[in-house]
Amino acid sequence: MIDLKSMNREELAAYFLELGEPAFRAKQVFSWLHRGATSFDDMSNLSKDLRRKLNENCYITAPTIARKQVSALDGTVKYLWQLRDGNCIETVLMRYHHGNTVCISSQVGCRMGCAFCASTIAGKVRDLTPSEMLDQVLFTSLDASEQISNIVLMGIGEPLDNFDNVLKFLELVNHPDGLNIGMRHISLSTCGVIPGIHRLAELRLQLTLSVSLHAPDSETRSRIMPVNRAYDVEQLFDACHRYFAATGRRISFEYAMIDGVNDHDWQADLIAKRIRGMPGHVNLIPLNDVVESPFKPSKRIAAFQKRLESHGITATVRRSLGGDIDASCGQLRRKAMEEKGGAHEILGNH
Ligand code: SAH
Repeated sequence: MIDLKSMNREELAAYFLELGEPAFRAKQVFSWLHRGATSFDDMSNLSKDLRRKLNENCYITAPTIARKQVSALDGTVKYLWQLRDGNCIETVLMRYHHGNTVCISSQVGCRMGCAFCASTIAGKVRDLTPSEMLDQVLFTSLDASEQISNIVLMGIGEPLDNFDNVLKFLELVNHPDGLNIGMRHISLSTCGVIPGIHRLAELRLQLTLSVSLHAPDSETRSRIMPVNRAYDVEQLFDACHRYFAATGRRISFEYAMIDGVNDHDWQADLIAKRIRGMPGHVNLIPLNDVVESPFKPSKRIAAFQKRLESHGITATVRRSLGGDIDASCGQLRRKAMEEKGGAHEILGNH
């Protein structure tokens, strides 16, 4: 069976050509799919014969809501979606003055192993398809009856560990006949998969690259982020400088403040030293307490921010949304897994 929503326009056109249909079918079907049609029978401008053929050979992805939590504090909505194969992923809808942002997942689980992160505890199950990433934007928008203006790839999973599907998703969500979300309204966050950063640099997209830094020295970073043992922080900054040189786009460095681990002044000094030469921005994140993790939130956020600023680095402290609804990535899926008595039921077929 064919996942029609994962196809771009050229692929759709080639497929309809194969079926002996005119090229404009690609535009029609693309438009239906990207408006959230869940059945070929609803596609009223297609012939009955074509609808029958599509029903026989293709499917339309449409996640169902397994859980939904709405924050009483700020209206943040967290969705736990159930996919076709029974796997579950999370999406968060955040409402800001400048518009609605959705934070989407790129994989079912994650294999990066960051010590402070809930998403990676049970490992990676599989990559998400382009359609499954698109659906998170599409069905969140439909469920909330709200337009989505910004997307952040900061949910469960490592986007650069699912490079081709993520790239296809970006193409789809950016398309004028689809959701038409501009690249400048999209952020992609990586823990530092360097070959992916190089590939992205070559494409010169206008999206914002976020790098989850969390420590500027290899010793600390390797301790909390296993990816650093493969691609260490010096190579990472080298890749970031090259990315900036190729794209001209400022990189945003994510930095979750962990008590006694990465909140020392000398680490702020080292961040400044490593960023020097490009317009980096550091986003300090109050650590979310993950029950399974030994790390505690730092009490030195303001001091650390000052120290960075004394070096001329812009540093902001992330406002935390949805504090009452497990809104940080991986936590809701994890809770659902535990309540169902283990990973199998909710993770589906593996
Ligand atoms: N794999 C990608 C994107 C997903 S994680 C990446 O690593 O960037 C989204 C962000 O949340 C990352 O910066 C991640 O390091 C951070 N994060 C994970 N667990 C956290 C926690 N307990 N508290 C604060 N931030 C956390």
